Amino acid sequence: MFDNILGNEKNKNILEKSIKLNKFSHSYIFWGIEGIGKKLIAKEFAKNILCLEQKENCNCKSCIEFDSNNNPDFQLIEPNEGKVRIEQVREMQRKIAEKPIISNKKIYIINDADTMTTEAQNCLLKTLEEPPEYITIILICTNEENLLSTIKSRCTRMHFDSIDTEEIRRYIKQNFPEQEISQNIIKLSQGSIGKTIKLNENKDIYENIEKILLNMQNKDLIEIVQMSEEIYKTKDEISSILDYMNVILLKLSKQNIKYIKCIDIVEQTKKRLKANSNYDMCIDNLLFNMIFIIHN
Ligand SMILES: [Zn+2]
Repeated sequence: MFDNILGNEKNKNILEKSIKLNKFSHSYIFWGIEGIGKKLIAKEFAKNILCLEQKENCNCKSCIEFDSNNNPDFQLIEPNEGKVRIEQVREMQRKIAEKPIISNKKIYIINDADTMTTEAQNCLLKTLEEPPEYITIILICTNEENLLSTIKSRCTRMHFDSIDTEEIRRYIKQNFPEQEISQNIIKLSQGSIGKTIKLNENKDIYENIEKILLNMQNKDLIEIVQMSEEIYKTKDEISSILDYMNVILLKLSKQNIKYIKCIDIVEQTKKRLKANSNYDMCIDNLLFNMIFIIHN
């Protein structure tokens, strides 16, 4: 059932078993870092709950409509401008009140459920307290702590783990043979295939970062600042860039302990940026302080 989805075998087994036994919870929370297949698994699970025939490569009405995003017994709710809002929950509740059409169940997935406003969560709570028997709701989130404890206590909670880097390397080789992905980028994505692929889209930036750090010892400040032009222009990517610096610095520190001090500088920069300090100034400081450590 989850043949094309990598990792999280234990959770996949639990869900498969519940399909076989035809026993489901009314509400689930799937939580864990981004890009590890939570939504993919939730959708596959929903499709299988709704399936009328329960067989491989099924062509039942429910599965056909599901694959063409037209199954009236299924809905995926996504945040609207960054948040899942009370209007969306109310709209969902109106639909929940109507009986299923094709199957004898209805499934609702709320993606990024941790962006639900408190109002929206309180509104959803009413449905979780007294769900119609044909309903299953799956909440997908990264930060489970953003959900009210009253919501959490009513859901079956499943934690999704990051995936082993070796497993990701093999998966990408098999499924994206044209993509050349460095070991460092795989490391940076903490076991998330989605993140690996996204980071790889900016591969040039990361290769450049690596070059800057490897050359720090034999270049002066002006040269390093020139090489770092891209960092100044890539504010959106800075949190991944800084994490990537740490991956490289940690490697370098095995040859020279000075690089450990540079990791401190990177961490200080993260804090400064979080405190909304001037971006260019933070990057100036980062480069200057690292050069100072390495050259002394
Ligand atoms: Zn089917």
